[in-house]
Amino acid sequence: MTTKEFPLIFERGKEGRTSYSLPEMDVPETDLASEFETDYIRKNPSGLPEVSELDIMRHYTGLSKRNYGVDTGFYPLGSCTMKYNPKMNEDIARLEGFSHIHPYQPTDTVQGALEVMYDLQTSLKEITGMHEISLQSAAGAQGEWTALMMIRALHEANGDTERTKVIVPDSAHGTNPASAAVAGLEAVTVKTNPDGLVDIEHLKQVVGNDTAALMLTNPNTLGLFETEIKEMAEIVHEAGGRLYYDGANLNAIMGYVRPGDMGFDAVHLNLHKTFTGPHGGGGPGSGPVGVTEELEPFLPKPVLKNQGETYLFDYDRPQSIGRIKPYYGNFGINLRAYTYIRSMGAEGLRKVSEYAVLNANYMMRSLESVYDLPYRQHCKHEFVLSGKKQKKLGVRTLDIAKRLLDYGYHPPTIYFPLNVEEAMMVEPTETESKETLDGFIDSIIQIAKEAEEEPELVQEAPHETIVKRMDETTAARKPVLKYNRE
Ligand SMILES: *Cc1c(COP(=O)(O)O)cnc(C)c1O
Repeated sequence: MTTKEFPLIFERGKEGRTSYSLPEMDVPETDLASEFETDYIRKNPSGLPEVSELDIMRHYTGLSKRNYGVDTGFYPLGSCTMKYNPKMNEDIARLEGFSHIHPYQPTDTVQGALEVMYDLQTSLKEITGMHEISLQSAAGAQGEWTALMMIRALHEANGDTERTKVIVPDSAHGTNPASAAVAGLEAVTVKTNPDGLVDIEHLKQVVGNDTAALMLTNPNTLGLFETEIKEMAEIVHEAGGRLYYDGANLNAIMGYVRPGDMGFDAVHLNLHKTFTGPHGGGGPGSGPVGVTEELEPFLPKPVLKNQGETYLFDYDRPQSIGRIKPYYGNFGINLRAYTYIRSMGAEGLRKVSEYAVLNANYMMRSLESVYDLPYRQHCKHEFVLSGKKQKKLGVRTLDIAKRLLDYGYHPPTIYFPLNVEEAMMVEPTETESKETLDGFIDSIIQIAKEAEEEPELVQEAPHETIVKRMDETTAARKPVLKYNRE
């Protein structure tokens, strides 16, 4: 696509064109500019595009038509839970009593909003089996870091300053080792066994006096439940370490198993995944952190409390790791998650997990004869295929993903987890109908046929989209992030 076919808003502009008309002036005109204009402003006029209302509407409506999202089609991105965003959430989030308040208003004027936050904390405690929850963190990754800082603070408070290692499975999400590093700790890898689960014997070898924590996703990023979790918890606890639960995959087990009961000491949840917060375009998200009683004193401050019917923020937390985000978390996203939880109810959330697991297994079994399935047991809410067979024909997983665009689908996650060759990670979610699942299954089977019969068709895909195959290396190495008017 050239900018000629779809000009930038700046290129659509014409000097003097506007999209508003103001009533005629009935007060004397004053030259504000000369009074307030600084040298800087004179040298850098705003340069905002001057466009008509119609120009603006056509520009942004046109752009939105070139986009793809959960509201336009099936979005099987694994490890992300791209589920439906109920429109009721939006209605609730726009109520004036919520949308017109300010976080620095006196707490006695926002008791309703605080009650919602408190009730959400209570629900999340019940869902996770943890002792206390903080809603402050804005994402899963920030939740990981927050919890590791708390675990670090706990070890330091116990005089255990040698505990600097964080054990992370080789199938883990990249944010896990990254969070460990940012928290000033060192990530150590534990291997996956041939069944796709943590290799317990290897865990026993890497655990020791220097272990701060084990970070684990359960079900893991292969979509498989770590059945030996109780034994793993024992091994790590016995060595003096703590267990951290990466809750990105909670969509598979809600209402059935709780991280607190599995032996985890700290968890994060991704409200923009499991709990229907919209998550595209980089946010905003919400990654509440739950902890055991032992870790509670280290929670980020302030902590939301209730005294009878009154809700207040407790700042008197001498052992707190401090504030980790301005204000008290992404309230709008927390409100949407609260709406979802209350509208589903406990039984509804259990059903979510059931259907998520059913849909994933249905799809996995429909595809296992066409694509290589490295781990063959039943999966939870997602599964990982390998494009190994197709690679032998010269067609790579990236090509298959691009060809799916021609069929009108967002591709699954590719090349993750790293321990599966040519990985394709598919998460259908509970909200999709059998017809939608069948449509995707037929299309990706058709692409496997094309790979055999007409490999170039797949290798050169996409053909039907506005933007064709991109040079991803150049885009990553030399990104152009700014519009240059020259
Ligand atoms: C998404 C994800 C994360 C990171 O969560 P963000 O909210 O994107 O920061 C961590 N671990 C796993 C397994 C994930 O899928």
